[in-house]
Amino acid sequence: MQIPSRQEIIREIKEKGGKLAAVLPFHYPRALLRAHGIFPVEVWGPPGVDDMAGSRHFPEYTCKIVQKATRFLTGPGAAPVDCILIPHTCDSLQGMASVMKDFLKPPQPLFTIYHPRGRRSSDLQFLTEELRQLSGELAAFSGVRPTVQALRDAMALEDRATAVFSGIASNREKYRVTDREFYTLLRSREYLPAETFIEVAEKLPSGKMDSTGPGLMLSGIVADPLDLFDRINEFGAHVCVDDLACCSRRIYRPAAQNDPFCAMAEQLMSMPPEPTVSSPYQERFDYIIDRMKAGNAGGLLVYDVKFCEPELFYLPMLEERVLGEGFGFLYVETELAPVIPQTVLNRINAFIEVLS
Ligand code: SF4
Repeated sequence: MQIPSRQEIIREIKEKGGKLAAVLPFHYPRALLRAHGIFPVEVWGPPGVDDMAGSRHFPEYTCKIVQKATRFLTGPGAAPVDCILIPHTCDSLQGMASVMKDFLKPPQPLFTIYHPRGRRSSDLQFLTEELRQLSGELAAFSGVRPTVQALRDAMALEDRATAVFSGIASNREKYRVTDREFYTLLRSREYLPAETFIEVAEKLPSGKMDSTGPGLMLSGIVADPLDLFDRINEFGAHVCVDDLACCSRRIYRPAAQNDPFCAMAEQLMSMPPEPTVSSPYQERFDYIIDRMKAGNAGGLLVYDVKFCEPELFYLPMLEERVLGEGFGFLYVETELAPVIPQTVLNRINAFIEVLS
């Protein structure tokens, strides 16, 4: 299974005259961008970026995703980027959008989108109008004003990619690949155009997963670096199910609405219960427990970006519920460094030994 690299895809898009959007985590309307001829490439705290330079614009307790992404988007690495989209995932990303727009003023246009936290019909209406407004801004930037049919075609393509993604993400045990290979494929959705993702994903070798030791549910924002999966396997466990923002939290349901903007809004509000949209505690915990049971997980490993406020709000009660249901629970923090600190690895190792 060959997955094109991020650099290859960026080069290909540019050679074909496509526009590139750097998109911050993590719910956003892919189809809307594509309908305007814009290809999203996501930025999750890029490796090899000096975050100290990004950190001077924010309070010390700002997460590394924001610090690194700010540094990246204001540095030479962002030269191929034609526009930037920052969803209001959390207060830190909202702060980043303000700092970028009002003080750092990148050369590219910067768009934002606000996600309603409720699930009332007025929330759906609000998000529909947000998407309509974003579409107007994207049209002014790209010169492409998509027809209703073009919007529907873009949605159909993204729906197919989402269905393939969901089918794989929800069935770890059916793929004969290592955890690292499995999550490398799922994370390629962060930059592969939908049609390329479908083509690559369909080649993922099926067959019974090689699993040793206890199964873990891996939760958090992003599993970086990917060495994490190798270490978990070396310690004698495997990841049988995830609750990662970069993976399973983006399993959206197909929409029923007829109007394309309304359909996009409906879909963007259909993610599983998760912290950044302030899902009710009980709903989220039931969802986690159900998935752990379905995936035969022995424990929950929360691998969290340090200072991620939305995640922290849920943590104490999540731990109580998971332990109360008889599962193991471990919380560790990461700063998105290229090497996982030995102290964190020791704790994961000890956790797996207790579960074994
Ligand atoms: S890691 Fe948490 S605080 Fe940082 S951008 Fe993501 S959701 Fe926001």
